[in-house]
Amino acid sequence: MADSAGQQATGDWTEPGLFIVAPGVHRIPLPLPHDALRAVNVYAIESGDDLVLVDAGWALAETGGLLDAALDRIGRNSAEITRCLVTHVHRDHYTMAVILRRRFGTHVALGIGDRPSLTAAGVAGRENMAEHVLRLERAGAGPVIAALRAAFGDAPPEREDVWELPDEWLKDQATIQLDGRELRAVATPGHTQGHTVFADLGRNMLFAGDHVLPHITPSVGFEAVMAELPLGDYLRSLRLVLDLPDMRLLPAHGPVTDTTHARVHALLAHHEDRLSACLDRIEAGAHTAYQTALELPWTRRGRRFSDLDPFNQMLAVLETGVHLDLLVAQGRLAREATGKLLTYALPGPAAR
Ligand SMILES: [Zn+2]
Repeated sequence: MADSAGQQATGDWTEPGLFIVAPGVHRIPLPLPHDALRAVNVYAIESGDDLVLVDAGWALAETGGLLDAALDRIGRNSAEITRCLVTHVHRDHYTMAVILRRRFGTHVALGIGDRPSLTAAGVAGRENMAEHVLRLERAGAGPVIAALRAAFGDAPPEREDVWELPDEWLKDQATIQLDGRELRAVATPGHTQGHTVFADLGRNMLFAGDHVLPHITPSVGFEAVMAELPLGDYLRSLRLVLDLPDMRLLPAHGPVTDTTHARVHALLAHHEDRLSACLDRIEAGAHTAYQTALELPWTRRGRRFSDLDPFNQMLAVLETGVHLDLLVAQGRLAREATGKLLTYALPGPAAR
């Protein structure tokens, strides 16, 4: 049966079921096909005649059944969902919304900043891996490209038809009127260009998607069409959360916690540390994002780059690239392009 808040603090947040966060707000963890993030939280809001999902999950064969089993605990089912508010276009958040719409006509809303990436994914039939390979080439990460090819092969991926457009593109500061409850959509570009969080200011809750996660640092700019300076956007969007009241944090991955502000301060400090560490590596002789990534510790456990799997090596290199590019924008590094390859150095005459 639906559990109390105590379970949330101590238990495994990925355990399947339906968990009460607050009256009318339920957390439903749904599975992901690989381990890294372990599960995705979908939040079901019951408000008068409305049954709304914030994020919808990854459209796996079993997702619909698990969602119904969870909703059954409050005597509801997927056919009653009136709309899906999706925080961003990544497949663990968006694709099940498309399936629900096909089955039940559910209304789907997504932040308008994700339109370029969703359109690109729709055209390519998938997320645009070629774009990521190009970014790896710019980073001088040939060995990572080779490792990815060895792990996933060279064949073009299967076409998918889940990348349909939403019914509604959400704009920043849009008011979402539910029956007896109001949410404010706040555009928080960074994790993706269109990432949007939903604030229930009356009840002091932030549906944070992947913008603020309690245990991990969200990736930045991993999308088919990347912003000019995704890390700059992300840090600005973190500060937007500090402009809102300190609320309960309802993240898409990880347990519910009591404060958004404490975690935002920690994430800002983390990126400050990473920016200085990148600067140190360039000062010590690294020239490319790949060389820099090789020298940095990764994950919460401080693992070596060489111990990461090829997919996470790719994320690590891309992550390093967005840090170096922000340092360039801040005037703390200079960047030069030779063909595709981008190299970085300290600015000024001493750099050459
Ligand atoms: Zn996610």
